[in-house]
Amino acid sequence: MDFELNEEQRMWQKTVHDFVAAEIKPKAHEVDENATFNWEATRKMGPLGLLGLSIPEQYGGSGVDAVSAAIAIEEIGWGCGSTGLAIAAHNGLGTSPIALYATDAIKKRWLPLVASGRAKLGALALTEPGAGSDLQGGVRTKAEKSGGEWVINGAKMWCTNASIAEYIITLVRTNPAGGSRSLSMILVPTNTPGLTIHPAEKKMGLKGSPTHAVTYEDVRVPLENLIGEENRGLQQTLATLDGGRISIGALSLGLAQSALEAALDYSKTRQTFGKPIAEHQAIQFMLADAATEIDAARLMVYRAAWLKEKGRPYSKEAAMAKLFATEVGERVARNAIQIHGGYGYSREYPVERIYRDARLMTIGEGTSEINRMVIARQVLLSH
Ligand SMILES: Cc1cc2nc3c(=O)[nH]c(=O)nc-3n(C[C@H](O)[C@H](O)[C@H](O)COP(=O)(O)OP(=O)(O)OC[C@H]3O[C@@H](n4cnc5c(N)ncnc54)[C@H](O)[C@@H]3O)c2cc1C
Repeated sequence: MDFELNEEQRMWQKTVHDFVAAEIKPKAHEVDENATFNWEATRKMGPLGLLGLSIPEQYGGSGVDAVSAAIAIEEIGWGCGSTGLAIAAHNGLGTSPIALYATDAIKKRWLPLVASGRAKLGALALTEPGAGSDLQGGVRTKAEKSGGEWVINGAKMWCTNASIAEYIITLVRTNPAGGSRSLSMILVPTNTPGLTIHPAEKKMGLKGSPTHAVTYEDVRVPLENLIGEENRGLQQTLATLDGGRISIGALSLGLAQSALEAALDYSKTRQTFGKPIAEHQAIQFMLADAATEIDAARLMVYRAAWLKEKGRPYSKEAAMAKLFATEVGERVARNAIQIHGGYGYSREYPVERIYRDARLMTIGEGTSEINRMVIARQVLLSH
């Protein structure tokens, strides 16, 4: 057993960390306050390979291993939750279904473009006003074949990156009979007539990561825009989410690490009763718990990524890592505010923003409850 990153992974971690420290972390407050996406840093991510974490090198991707991909998202999350979510969604949701399932023509057409940093990003629309956790039963957006094209009608909700995307991979019903073989993924370029991206949602946090409702009115795209197999969209979605869960776990780790670092700094300078608060045992215990939980979460996230890289089953481990790391993220950010006292409640200090950002992670890409269901099913099956 080896708990060390290899030389290549360590160099990658340092490169990404230095980039995030210079280009992303200093802008995190502004991005949140003004609800603007950090395009300036994103443009520079292309050449670094950060927009092609799920893409093979032959299609312009970075071709990094799954642990390195998790490290990249962890580091970006350390710098800024909003930028981290947008880039995690682009890689994990917006490009990986294409890399995994699309035809060579679709891969060549879209992947080098969105990995380059010179174009917009990728997005995936699964959720609808009436369907989130229960996609199989709930998806109403439908696609029908007509005149050599798919005609799509319906409405999606909570689509990360929709307004900053070249295309939206859309989960649609293609078989009205229902059941597990009734959904498909179709790539819809965002400039297609009939597609409307509604104004960005006003959210609690992650304000620099645009999230939108999207509607489709007689949206026509070529039949070739089908991603993967017709009526296998649910299975493709579940496999995509397995990978996405490692990514959201990694993002939560980065947020937790950043909150802990802020709490450590503050606890050494703030004085009460004649000494720095870091010398009070109650504060030390919160710091110790945070450091311990972050360590455990990091091991879980890296293990799930390592299994993925080895081509071994990792669905349960990814769900466990996501469940644990996202709840750690929230707890660590909560206690970081506690350590800051009243100042922690102010927007002047980063822990307030990190807490709001961390809150989403237990909801997106499978809620904690859904992840517990995934884990329970596999634990029960294997006993
Ligand atoms: C900021 C943000 C970004 C997002 N980005 C995207 C995106 O890019 N693409 C996309 O498709 N979606 C995206 N989403 C949507 C997100 O994935 C869903 O919100 C999430 O999957 C939950 O679905 P829901 O909101 O419909 O909740 P519901 O499914 O209605 O669940 C409501 C509550 O019931 C619980 N619940 C549901 N079923 C069960 C059950 N069987 N047993 C026990 N409890 C249950 C849930 O855990 C939750 O607590 C985003 C959401 C947000 C807020």
